Amino acid sequence: MFREGELQKTIANPIEYSGIALHTGKEVNIKCLPAEANRGIIFRRIDLPEKPEIKADSFKVVSTRRCTSIGLAGEDQPRVHTVEHMMSAFWAMGVDNIIIEIDNAETPVGDGSALPFIKLLQKAGIKELGAPRQVWKIDQPLWVKKGKMYLVILPYEGFKISYTLDYDHPVIGTQFYEFDQEENSFIDEIAPARTFGFEREVEALHRRGLALGGSLENAVLIGEEETVNPLRFPDEFVRHKILDVIGDMALNGFIRGHIIAVRSGHYLHVELAKKIREKNNPGR
Ligand SMILES: [Zn+2]
Repeated sequence: MFREGELQKTIANPIEYSGIALHTGKEVNIKCLPAEANRGIIFRRIDLPEKPEIKADSFKVVSTRRCTSIGLAGEDQPRVHTVEHMMSAFWAMGVDNIIIEIDNAETPVGDGSALPFIKLLQKAGIKELGAPRQVWKIDQPLWVKKGKMYLVILPYEGFKISYTLDYDHPVIGTQFYEFDQEENSFIDEIAPARTFGFEREVEALHRRGLALGGSLENAVLIGEEETVNPLRFPDEFVRHKILDVIGDMALNGFIRGHIIAVRSGHYLHVELAKKIREKNNPGR
């Protein structure tokens, strides 16, 4: 819960983590460092000359194909892929400022959920900084739409997401979940929900150079009639979609509003995040 006058936060101590990246399949090492107030969430590509920094920001998103990628403007400029799960953990732990040194182009996937990053931040400890946090308040309904996908945000005192997932697949079908920051626990209900993929799509994804690091250790694999690995929640899919919405919205920092999502994905999330920035002024 983020009330008026809440202070910005960072981590208390540096902390490291290693693992495989979901799409590139490469081993990647990250080191999270505390950062001063108003620095933001910064990914620093330490594998590249001059160690370029990419700020997590909805206007820095360069691709939303299968994951959210941020980068500097231009084709061959440095990027960081799949930031959304880490971003949701920063949001949940109230982290506004942090530097993530990363030695590859994609974050580690962990177990496909936000839980490894939550645990990492808990281990590092959270520290308040002496500067007020800016929160984006919604004073008028905003929406984006693409085909059968909808994403709306309404004025609301707190932060709430009502998500309807509707997949033409017997294992998923239609699922609904509502997360209200005041009433629900992100760490217990949302953070453990893993990303998912379809068995029938794996080959095609691999041909496109995607999901190369995907395995039963870091994703729910969906077969024709059931999941190949066991679910953590019967409605794990819709819970993960809420995790993705939160991670993408966290590119703006903190927002107050009620998001109503129907079949939305990274593309719409980022479109709405940008619209929120264009139409609203941050309140303190
Ligand atoms: Zn995801």
